Amino acid sequence: MAQGIPDKMMSNTTLIKDLADVAKDAALLQGVLMRIHETPNSSELVTYAPFTLFPTPVPKAVFLQALAVQTHYNTLVDKISQDPDFLEEALASTIAVDDFTARLFRIHQQILKEGRSQSIVLGLNRSDYMLDQGDDGSSSLKQIEINTFAASFGGLASRTPDVHRHVLNVAGQLEESRRILDNNPAAGLAKAVAKAWELYGSERAVVMFLVEEGQRNIFDQRYIENELWKRNISTMRKRFDDVTKTGSLDQDKRLFVDDQEVAVVYFRNGYMPENYISEKTWDARLLMERSLAVKCPDISTHLAGTKKVQQVLASPGVLEKFFPDQPQVVEQIRATFTGLYTLDMGPEGEKTVAMALAAPDRFVLKPQREGGGNNIYGSEICQVLQGVKESTERTAYILMDKIHPTPVQNYLLRRDGPLKISNCLSELGVFGTYVRQGKDMVMNECAGHLLRTKSSEHSDGGVAAGVAVLDNPLLV
Ligand code: ADP
Ligand code: MG
Repeated sequence: MAQGIPDKMMSNTTLIKDLADVAKDAALLQGVLMRIHETPNSSELVTYAPFTLFPTPVPKAVFLQALAVQTHYNTLVDKISQDPDFLEEALASTIAVDDFTARLFRIHQQILKEGRSQSIVLGLNRSDYMLDQGDDGSSSLKQIEINTFAASFGGLASRTPDVHRHVLNVAGQLEESRRILDNNPAAGLAKAVAKAWELYGSERAVVMFLVEEGQRNIFDQRYIENELWKRNISTMRKRFDDVTKTGSLDQDKRLFVDDQEVAVVYFRNGYMPENYISEKTWDARLLMERSLAVKCPDISTHLAGTKKVQQVLASPGVLEKFFPDQPQVVEQIRATFTGLYTLDMGPEGEKTVAMALAAPDRFVLKPQREGGGNNIYGSEICQVLQGVKESTERTAYILMDKIHPTPVQNYLLRRDGPLKISNCLSELGVFGTYVRQGKDMVMNECAGHLLRTKSSEHSDGGVAAGVAVLDNPLLV
C-alpha cells in the first residue's frame, strides 16, 4: 500500500485476523453501530457498522481542495434553490418523463404560488468525490454528486477516527496512527440545526427528525440528536405516518406533530419514491413544506440536489450566472466537475447517445434517483439506451464520465462477511452546513468529512445498501 500500511503486514493472515478482532471490538466500544438487518427497529441486537480494517491513503492536496470548495458548494446550492426560473428550465425535460421528480416539482410550484412561509433556510449537504487517476499517477478531485437530502454517516464518521487510531497502535504503526484526522460532523451538523432552531425563536418548539420505517441507521442520527440535547434543544423522531395522523398547522402555519410545535423538520427519509407509500404520505410532505417550520431541506433545495441539475451546472456559462463577479469561485467549483452530458431531445442529446453507445465503459448512466444501486454501467447502458433513445424517456437520465480511482488493498469488515483482502475504491464526502435568514447568510461552513470504501467488484452502492463501508483518510 503506497505510503500506508506495509504490504508485509497486509498479507500476514494471523496478524490480520487478530487485528480484525481488535478493530471490531474497538468499533463497538466507540459506538460505530447499526441495528441488524433482521430487526431494524430493535436496539436489542446491534452490530458494528461495516468499516475498513485500515485507513486509506488520500493525497493531502486533494483532500484540502475538497474542504476548501465546500462553502462555495453551499452557496451554489442555496442560490439554485432561490432561482425558480433556473430550476424550471433545468428540470423541464426531466419532469416531463420522471414521475417522482415531477411530483416534487409540483410541490415546489405550489409553495412558490402560496409564498414561502419561512425565510430561514437550513442546508446540510454532502458533496461526494472520487479521485480520478491520471496517466502520470496524479489524482484529481472529481465530484460524484452532491446530496442535499438526508446526507448520512456524519454521526458515525465522528467515531471512526479512534477506531483506526487504535488498530494502527496495536499494529505498531504509531506514526500513521497519529496522522488520522479528527473529524466531528455530528457536532458541525448539530451546530447548524441549533442555529436554525434559535432563529425560529420558540423555546418550546422541537427539532423533528423525520425518519424511515426501518431504522437500522438510527445511531448515526442519535449522535446529532444528542449534540442537540446537549444544547438544551429537544428532538423527537417521527415517521411520515405520525405526521399524517397527528400533524396540523395553526392559523400562523406553525407545525404541530403530536401536540409539539416543530421548529425544524430534519428529513432523513423521503428521497425515494418508495418512501411515499400513499397519497397520504405526499399530503404529509406538503403539510410540512407549507408550514412555518424550517425544513432541511426545503423542497427547492431538494430539487437543487437532483442529478439533472448537476448536469446542467456543467454546461458552459451556467456557473458564471450564479457567480457573476467571482471567476475564481467558478474555477474552483468547475475544477471538480467531470464530463456530464445531456440526453435532452435535440442534436446535443443525439451526440450523447452516440458517444455512450460507442464506448459504454467510459460512462455511467444515471436516473434521477438517490440511495445507491440505481446507476447503469457497461453493456447495460447500451441495452437501456437502445430502448429509450428515440423517445423523450431518455431525458429521465443523464450521462457522466466514469471516474477511475486508484485501487487500494484493504479488508472490509462486516458482520457475516469473510475476512479477505479486497481491491478497493474510495469515495470522499465533505459535509457542508449553512443557515440563511432572508438575505443574510448567517452561517456557511465545512463540517467534516466521510470516507467510504467498497470492493472494486461493485460499481455502485452505498453503506446502507451493504456495499460500501466506513473508512478514514490517511493523508499522504
Ligand atoms: P446515489 O444518489 O445513488 O448515491 P451516486 O451518483 O452517488 O448516486 O452514485 C452511486 C455510486 O455509484 C457512487 O457512490 C459511486 O460508487 C458510483 N458512481 C457514481 N458516479 C460515478 C462515476 N461518474 N464514476 C465512477 N463511479 C461512479
Ligand atoms: Mg451517492
